[in-house]
Amino acid sequence: MTKTTLLHEGKAKKVFLTDQSDLVIQEFKDDATAFNNKKKGTIADKGVVNNAISCRLFTLLEEQGIRTHLVEKLSDRDMLCKRLDIIKVEVVVRNIAAGSLVKRYGFKEGFVLQQPIVEFYLKDDDLDDPLMNDAHAVALGVATAEELVILKSRAEAINLVLRQFFADRKLKLVDFKLEFGRHKNEILLGDEISPDTCRFWDLDTNEKMDKDRFRFDMGGVENAYSEVQKRVLELD
Ligand code: UDP
Repeated sequence: MTKTTLLHEGKAKKVFLTDQSDLVIQEFKDDATAFNNKKKGTIADKGVVNNAISCRLFTLLEEQGIRTHLVEKLSDRDMLCKRLDIIKVEVVVRNIAAGSLVKRYGFKEGFVLQQPIVEFYLKDDDLDDPLMNDAHAVALGVATAEELVILKSRAEAINLVLRQFFADRKLKLVDFKLEFGRHKNEILLGDEISPDTCRFWDLDTNEKMDKDRFRFDMGGVENAYSEVQKRVLELD
């Protein structure tokens, strides 16, 4: 399978068309951005690490009956995927208070939520990805009410699988962001699942092992990403 034209270049990935019309190749870059593009940089080998982690996690989810866009890992940086009509909703799942939950509602960072919280954000950089409820999403025409029910239940199911997987690897899954898309009358999980899109804290020390180290100039970014990769792949 070979790349033909560049379909889209995002902050962390390029998406290429292929010679098969329903398949695309996601190429993972080392570029890193935070705070909606206000902070930019690179994280050495991030693309390689995030591709490896995402492929492993999508395979795990498939094994658990959750459909994803993954077809196969093609190379260090390239993932062959089913082409999706991306739903412009970012689905965030939270197990522990951090980030914007702390800022917006005054939770203490680290507060363990009794029940996971699922949130929808409009995927629109120009508007700074605003938080929205179901009525907003339906009114905007980004998803139907039925699709939103599926997104929420799919996100909850994914959370159960991932939380256990990471606990077995001595990582707390604090929160994470998912994107879904439509493909031949099905909704599939798309995008990536990586330290760019999740918060991971070490189970024993609570050390942050994700993009927060880049966001807040904490140092040790590459080490944190490769430690997550090591733990994700080590029990295979
Ligand atoms: N997240 C993401 N992309 C975004 C916004 C959030 O991957 O555009 C992830 C983020 O890494 C974290 C979770 O979603 O794991 C919740 O993020 P939050 O709402 O706390 O926003 P942030 O603090 O990242 O601005």
